[in-house]
Amino acid sequence: MTTLFISDLHLDAAAPAAGTQFFQFLQQRARGAEALYILGDLFESWVGDDDDEPYRDQVCQALAHLTALGVPCYVMCGNRDFLLGRGFEARSGTRVIDDPVITELYGEPVLLTHGDALCTADRSYQRLRSVVRAPRWQQRFMGLPLAARRTLAEQARAGSRRHTSAAGELIMDADPAAVDAAMRACGVRTLVHGHTHRPAVHELQLDGSPARRIVLGAWHEHGSCLAWDAAGFRLEQLPR
Ligand code: MN
Repeated sequence: MTTLFISDLHLDAAAPAAGTQFFQFLQQRARGAEALYILGDLFESWVGDDDDEPYRDQVCQALAHLTALGVPCYVMCGNRDFLLGRGFEARSGTRVIDDPVITELYGEPVLLTHGDALCTADRSYQRLRSVVRAPRWQQRFMGLPLAARRTLAEQARAGSRRHTSAAGELIMDADPAAVDAAMRACGVRTLVHGHTHRPAVHELQLDGSPARRIVLGAWHEHGSCLAWDAAGFRLEQLPR
């Protein structure tokens, strides 16, 4: 049996091609999986579990269909959908998991993270992150009406686009020292993350022995998936 990892689908009614491919992926490939992990940014935005927008609801229902068939699905929050919570779990049949988390895959401990926390050179983003991840900020935000939250999320997306195009390529990537520190602290030789939209398997040396960082791809132009079974792993591009 195979464990599947995906991330950065950025599902949004305004750009439905990724969603169409994702629904197909859930109906075919994922049905035969031992488990499905979604490592952040499933949605382009998520302003609270009470969000009743029909497209997002369709995504929840598609996930609920998969989990009802007995395939466990674990969802990590990304920087776009960090407000996924208990209500989303109930709607989708999935389980929201911590970022980071260590899981054991076929005998090997593997560190899973969305990846934004590794981009430490992007100081202004890290400051923003520490604000919006604080429980008090989230409580205040959730106290606003749904329409106001949607407007604020739209403004945040526009701000993020400006920041991404202004910041350099290197600043937007995972910092090697942060990668080493995270793996060392968790005692793992393998790290899986998304967020940077740069799918690759990086072989590296950590304290004199081999380690690796597997980066999942985004779903903007085609699908991307890491498939892991007892024989090993493959990072796949899924044609659209
Ligand atoms: Mn992200």
